[in-house]
Amino acid sequence: MTRILLLGGVTEALAIARTLGPQHTYSLAGVGRVPSDLQCQVRVGGYGGAEGLARYISEQQISLLLDATHPYAAQISANAVAAAALAGVPCWALRRPAWQPQAGDDWREIAGWDHLMQALRPFKRPLFTLGREPLQHLDDIPPGQFWTLRALDSCPGNERCEIIGARGPFLLEDERQLFARRDIDVLISKNSGSSATEPKLEVARERGIPVLILKRPVLPEADRHFGSVAELLLALGSPDKT
Ligand code: NAP
Repeated sequence: MTRILLLGGVTEALAIARTLGPQHTYSLAGVGRVPSDLQCQVRVGGYGGAEGLARYISEQQISLLLDATHPYAAQISANAVAAAALAGVPCWALRRPAWQPQAGDDWREIAGWDHLMQALRPFKRPLFTLGREPLQHLDDIPPGQFWTLRALDSCPGNERCEIIGARGPFLLEDERQLFARRDIDVLISKNSGSSATEPKLEVARERGIPVLILKRPVLPEADRHFGSVAELLLALGSPDKT
């Protein structure tokens, strides 16, 4: 009998989890919402690195590890490949294809926070969609800049920053209004590749404003790679029945 441990935390992972029966486990870090309507088991929290994950895989007699985590969650993907090797089970990975710029797009790849601060100098009203990391830098906002920062949960900003708590999917018309209301002149984004957050790129295109894109981390090679949920489910067959 196949026993799957599915590492998730993104929309596609939840879609896979919905197809899994009770002998399988959906694993979440605990930063987002925890679904309560799944047939499979749900486990919340870390394992204590690759060794801890390998121990869990062996103790729970997991036979297949599925890494369907976010493309910027590089640590857990590295742990997954290492743990599967230690425990002697295969690791399959769902790797979302990156967004590609279209004609007329002004996308600038950013290597890290210092590079981003430099690249932001000519702008006055950036919209950050990087998650929580910019929260650590609210005291460094240069005079003359006003940041709008979108993260999963809202929290207090300061006189140079407003923080909006919002969860995707985001609709094109809502994104248009957000950019217009706040007079956004540059967008800062990861290249998540998710259709749920893609409309902001269309709005940047419409308004002719640049997008500063945080470089994707390099993820390790898994035993098999899939570019979509459909491909992965096809390869799994009917995991409950095997
Ligand atoms: P990360 O830096 O790669 O991982 C940090 C640690 O969190 C891991 O070492 C592991 O702890 C624990 N962890 C991460 N994913 C886990 C999972 N699915 N199940 C159990 N433990 C997990 O990850 P991150 O970037 O902080 O992201 C955390 C979670 O949020 C991920 O599940 C990811 O799919 C989701 N997410 C991330 C982003 C993003 O932009 N990074 C965006 C949307 C959703 P131990 O070492 O103790 O096992």
